[in-house]
Amino acid sequence: MPKAFLWFQCSSRQFAAHTLACLPQRYKAPETQLRAMSEPMPKPNYKRILLKLSGEVLMGNQQFGIDPEFVAELAKEVKAAQATGLQICLVIGGGNIFRGMAGAAKGMDRAQADYMGMLATVMNALAMQNALEQQGVHTRVQSAVQMDQVCEPVIRRRAERHLEKGRVVIFAAGVGAPYFTTDSGAALRAAEMQCDALLKGTSVDGIYDSDPKTNPNAKRYDTVDYNTVLSQDLKVMDASAVALCRDNNIPIVVFSIRERGNLAKVLRGEGTQTVVK
Ligand code: UDP
Repeated sequence: MPKAFLWFQCSSRQFAAHTLACLPQRYKAPETQLRAMSEPMPKPNYKRILLKLSGEVLMGNQQFGIDPEFVAELAKEVKAAQATGLQICLVIGGGNIFRGMAGAAKGMDRAQADYMGMLATVMNALAMQNALEQQGVHTRVQSAVQMDQVCEPVIRRRAERHLEKGRVVIFAAGVGAPYFTTDSGAALRAAEMQCDALLKGTSVDGIYDSDPKTNPNAKRYDTVDYNTVLSQDLKVMDASAVALCRDNNIPIVVFSIRERGNLAKVLRGEGTQTVVK
């Protein structure tokens, strides 16, 4: 299918107006909708988003850990997005420090290793909080594993209040239970906080039908539906996270956060991205 004709599919929740006005559909494939390239991309009507960053983007060009310079760059992106009036919830993974599965593969007890992974996400949340506050952005960290001296516990009503006051709320420790990941944590918080979309900032610019690193003909989807992602096991997020978003009608926008200014572009409905809806 020629990429040039792939087009952004409007969801009833985010893009109702555009859906109604909808441009002539030249052809409708089961999982993608096409329309002419010359027509303008609709601006998403987000008021509140959940931005999920995988831990590895905090590494910058390092092999491990946190690169404060790169985190500062990410913080600037978040600040610019917030300056448009958007309410922002953040979830950051922990893969740059520790993943439970990796520990389990080396013989550790899985649950124990997962608790270590959750602690890694708290470290990343604190690093991002520091970077945002250095940019003058007010923040609160809420952790699903209670740590009173370090941050608040997850309290939805309090998080609501923070957002109303213009604070960025960083949710740490995923869902607070082993055998989950921060993708599930992100989907859960996006549903709980009634976010208009879950934006997943990663190192790749969307979802491909096969691995673009090994297959030069891999095709990137502009839009793809939840069930295709699940049935074809497309590597986007955990199945539980995708299912939670599907059941709550939350679009997942996958884009590269490594490209400077890309978050703002994606929020304007521009830039390279894949929307799961
Ligand atoms: N984790 C967990 N429960 C959660 C969230 C995270 O046990 O609800 C652990 C799990 O071990 C995971 C690690 O924390 O591997 C780091 O999170 P994740 O792998 O999602 O980080 P990312 O890949 O996004 O950097």
